[in-house]
Amino acid sequence: MRWSKTFIPTMKENPSDAEIPSHQLMLRAGLIRQLMAGAYTYLPLGWRSVRKAEQIVREEMDRAGAIELFMPALQPIDLFERTGRKEAFGNVLINFHVQRGDRKVHLALGPTHEEVITDLVARHLNSYRQLPICLYQIQTKFRNEERPRFGVLRTSEFIMKDAYSFGTSLEQLNAVYDQMYRAYCRIFARCGLKYLAVEAESGPIGGDASHEFMVPASNGEDRIVHCAACGYAANLERAETGRASAKPGKAPGAAPLTKVATPGATSIEQVSRMLQCAPSQMIKTLIYKADERPVAVLIRGDHEANEAKIRRALAAKSVELADEATIRSVTGAPVGFAGPVGIQCPVVADHDVAGITNAVTGANEADAHLTGVNVGRDFQLTSTHDLRMALDGDPCPRCKATLKLVHGIEVGHVFKLGTKYSVSLAAEFLDEKEQRHPMIMGCYGIGVNRIVAGLAETSFDENGLIWPLSIAPYEVLVIPLNVTDPETMELAERFYRELSEAGVDVLMDDRDARAGFKFKDADLIGIPLRIVIGGKGLKEGQVELKWRNAAAPVKAPIGEAVATVREMLAERRVEEAAAVPA
Ligand SMILES: [Zn+2]
Repeated sequence: MRWSKTFIPTMKENPSDAEIPSHQLMLRAGLIRQLMAGAYTYLPLGWRSVRKAEQIVREEMDRAGAIELFMPALQPIDLFERTGRKEAFGNVLINFHVQRGDRKVHLALGPTHEEVITDLVARHLNSYRQLPICLYQIQTKFRNEERPRFGVLRTSEFIMKDAYSFGTSLEQLNAVYDQMYRAYCRIFARCGLKYLAVEAESGPIGGDASHEFMVPASNGEDRIVHCAACGYAANLERAETGRASAKPGKAPGAAPLTKVATPGATSIEQVSRMLQCAPSQMIKTLIYKADERPVAVLIRGDHEANEAKIRRALAAKSVELADEATIRSVTGAPVGFAGPVGIQCPVVADHDVAGITNAVTGANEADAHLTGVNVGRDFQLTSTHDLRMALDGDPCPRCKATLKLVHGIEVGHVFKLGTKYSVSLAAEFLDEKEQRHPMIMGCYGIGVNRIVAGLAETSFDENGLIWPLSIAPYEVLVIPLNVTDPETMELAERFYRELSEAGVDVLMDDRDARAGFKFKDADLIGIPLRIVIGGKGLKEGQVELKWRNAAAPVKAPIGEAVATVREMLAERRVEEAAAVPA
C-alpha cells in the first residue's frame, strides 16, 4: 500500500479527551475515530490490526476443534424473556420496537449469543451421539454502556469471538474447557500480549470453573492479585487472602469492656475520628440475610467484605445486606451500631478479626460503641473464615510469598455455564437409554478489539506504538527520503514490489514531505521494520534497516537489502513463535 493512496490521518498532539495511552495512540496513529460516545470507526490501519487478531483467533479456535458459524445481531426479545436475561441486563440490553406491516415487533441487539445458539441447538441436536460440540462466531456485540470511556476499551459496540460448548457430562465440559483454555493461551501469546490467566468467580458449577485472561496494565479497570513467585492469579472477587484459620483464645493485656457514647457516629470513619482509634482496631459488624436468615459478619474495620466468600462460607444460595427492620430486630439498635457482643443472631468472622485485642465495635445500642472488646471473653467464635477482599501485601494462598495487586484489561473469559440456558430453552439430549437430560454448556469469549487496544496500552514508547509482527497493520515501511529523485524512487518501487511479491505486508511512505516529518509518523504508527532509502547511505550504495524497537539502524548494500529484510523478518517470526505454548 502507498501512503498517498490510503487513509492514515495521524495527529501531532494528544487529543484532550483521551485519558490513557491506548486511546491517545490509537487516535494519533490514525487507527480509530469516534463517531459518538461508545462507537468508533476503525480506520484502515486499525482495521488491518483487528483483522489480523481475528485471523489468529479463528486459526486457533479451528485448531482446538471449534466450528465457526455466524448468527444475527438482531434477536427476538422473547428469547431473553425466557432466560430471564431481559431483566438481568436491564438498561444494558439495547432493545426497541419496529413496525412490520400492522404489527410491532420487539427486538434486541445481541449482547452475547447464549440464547440464539442454545435455541438453535435445541431445535437441531438431540442425541448424545451428536455431542460434544463447540460452535463459535466472530461478530459485533451491543451493550448500552452507561459510561463509555478509554477509547475502544469500553464501548457500546464491540467485536467479540464467542464460543459455546454443548456436552452430555461434566467430563465433556471439562475437556472442551481445557482445550479452550489452551487455545486462549496460544492466541494471546501469538498476538504478542503479556497476559495472566486469572481465577474468577465460578458461577453455577462451582469449583475451578472460570478464568479471565487479563493484560496487566496500570489503567486497566479490573483488579487482580498476583503472586510472582508461584504464578497464582485471581480477580479481586475470587482471590483468597492466604490467611490461616485462627483459633481465637484469651488475649493478654485485655482491657475492661467499656461502653462509650458515640452520638451520631455510624461509620468506621466517624467512630475512628471520635474515639481516636485506627480502623484496623475496629470490628465492622455487617448484618446480612443469608437465604433470608440474618447473620452477623465480622470484618476488620479497614478491610472490605467479599459477598461471594461470605455466601460460600455460609453455604447459602444468596446473601444480601439486611434491611433496617432486620438490623433493628437482631441488634436492638438503629443501623450503624451493631456489634458482636450480645447480638441475637449467628456470628461469622474473618480470620483477621481474631487477632484484634481490645477492639472497638458497636454496642447494639443507639449512639454507643464498646471499647476493650476481646474474642473469647466478650463474644465467642468457634472458627474464622476468609471473608474479605484480598489486599496488596497479603500472603499468597499457594506459596506464602506476597501477593501484589495489579490492574488489568480483560481480553478473554472461559466459563463453565452448566445448564442455565439449556434448561430454560429446552436444549436436551437423549442418552443411551433414551433418557432426556439438559445439555451441559460452557461459554468462551474474546474481545477482539481489546487485543489491539491491549497491545496499544502496553507496547509503546514516547514516540508512538510498537507492534509485534503478528498484529502490526504492515510489517515493513519503505521510506524513500526524496520522492522527486528518480534513483531513490526506482529503488523504493523495486523493494516495494519484491517484498510484496514475497508475501510481506509493505507500506511505502511516498509522500513528498521532509524526512523528519516522515520519521515521526513512522515512529507513531509503529510498523516493526523500516527501510530508509536516500541521503549519504544511498550515495555509498546502502540503505538503512531499522526495527521500531531497536536503538540504531543497520546498513545493508542495496543489492542485498531485500534478502536481508526477509531474513530479519523470518528471525523475528521465530522469536515471536517461541513465546507460544504447545
Ligand atoms: Zn504464590
